[in-house]
Amino acid sequence: MRKVRVRFAPSPTGPLHMGGVRTALYNYLFAKKHGGDFLLRIEDTDQGRFVPGAEQYIIEALKWCGIEPNEGVGYGGDCAPYRQSERKPMYKPYAEKLIAAGWAYYAFDTSEDLDNIRKQAELAKMPNWQYNSISRMTMKNSLTLPVDEVEKRLAAGDPYVIRFKMPRNEEVRFQDLIRGWVVFSTNELDDKVLFKSDGMPTYHLANVVDDMTMNISHVIRGEEWLPSAPLHVLLYKAFEWEAPLFAHLPLILKPDGNGKLSKRDGDRLGFPVFPLEWKDPETGAISSGYREKGYFPKAFINMLLLLGWAPGNNQEIFTEQEMIDAFTIERIGKSGSKFDPDKTRWFNQQYLRATPHHELAQMLQPLLKEKGIDVSLEYTENVVGLMMERAVFVEDMLEGMYLFQGPTEFDAEAVSKKWKVGESAVIIQKWADAMNALEDFSFESIDHRFKEFLQEENLGMGAVMPLFRLLLTGTLTGPAAAQVASVIGKEEVMKRVAFGIEKLG
Ligand code: GLU
Repeated sequence: MRKVRVRFAPSPTGPLHMGGVRTALYNYLFAKKHGGDFLLRIEDTDQGRFVPGAEQYIIEALKWCGIEPNEGVGYGGDCAPYRQSERKPMYKPYAEKLIAAGWAYYAFDTSEDLDNIRKQAELAKMPNWQYNSISRMTMKNSLTLPVDEVEKRLAAGDPYVIRFKMPRNEEVRFQDLIRGWVVFSTNELDDKVLFKSDGMPTYHLANVVDDMTMNISHVIRGEEWLPSAPLHVLLYKAFEWEAPLFAHLPLILKPDGNGKLSKRDGDRLGFPVFPLEWKDPETGAISSGYREKGYFPKAFINMLLLLGWAPGNNQEIFTEQEMIDAFTIERIGKSGSKFDPDKTRWFNQQYLRATPHHELAQMLQPLLKEKGIDVSLEYTENVVGLMMERAVFVEDMLEGMYLFQGPTEFDAEAVSKKWKVGESAVIIQKWADAMNALEDFSFESIDHRFKEFLQEENLGMGAVMPLFRLLLTGTLTGPAAAQVASVIGKEEVMKRVAFGIEKLG
């Protein structure tokens, strides 16, 4: 087998959609599995669609996801440059080679010529006019014009494009690694422009020339490129090159399964579609990103892995090495996969739970600092221990702000339901005195004493617990009061009880 060399080849036309990240991930895993190379090539031949900042975004997003190329823009390598605009002088000789071999031709039709003919076709009720193996014989090109006129036009610098001369009545077939045999009739295909009048190659020419000169063994890309594949296969044939193997990935669908998950869907449906937040350089509009929403990159990648690929058993959580070992192109599904935002949150929760307390504490500390709370790492670790079970994101652990400062207000509804003026203060003071006498202020010790206390006083749980929780946290929800008490410590508990009694009477 050829050495595995795969590439991710985005066009810098905006932020990277999560479908693009999945394509990059599958390429990366495939390369790693086979000890091959993973390249990043920037396909920026369409200058009209260039968006400033997009290339940087792509590089940063791949870094955040931990799927870094070992060759390419930003990484260097033997095939540099990897940005197509910097490879510009390379492409024209290839286009000319195709002309010399009879696989392409010069076309001099102006955009008005083309507009006119399209309009006429529409009037004649033949929409979707194509420049193809039939219509080209009525157009202004080097197949129809006399040789000396073609030469004269070229010498005079008349604008022209170079088009592929699509054969007539032929079948193009190739074996897609996901779909099996794919067959197209050349009669359905048009004479695509390979080289534009601005001196730039089109996507098709540049893509094939680069895959060839970069020695790409497998092209793993989105399904939207399947219709371009027969042209690419024919280009390999025309150049007498060995074509890479193709694998076209199925789409990622909207959560309801109705159509492709598009760039515009994200925030509209309540979840990000981009790995990182993106600010549109023209409108200033912000699209949210998984990073800024607090997702762990590994959880995001793990979710993407299973969005189109299945391990064949019910394993869901994968380390990077497990992903590499398990991944095969054969196990990529043929049909689209529905994106599931709840499942994505579930993945994050699993990763959060698997993260050591001290690491979570380190992540939580800057968030606390932002809120002006300065506590030790050790204390933050205790908070993590208490809050992580219920958290999906690190930020969720801030819900327990009462772990850092006593309540100044009490939930009015809870007060009116549970607090009886005169009576409640007496009970809670007794319980506070019992706690105050404890040497060991662990959860277990407080919990044990609490049960004894209820027996001694002949009280039910409901007569004390809600009051205690209310004074500690200001509300009736959250983790067990004894747990909160053990984290904040005896001194703080006594302070809060005294404050509550004073305030509620
Ligand atoms: N530049 C194309 C894109 O933006 C690459 C398609 C391919 O991988 O061949 O997706």
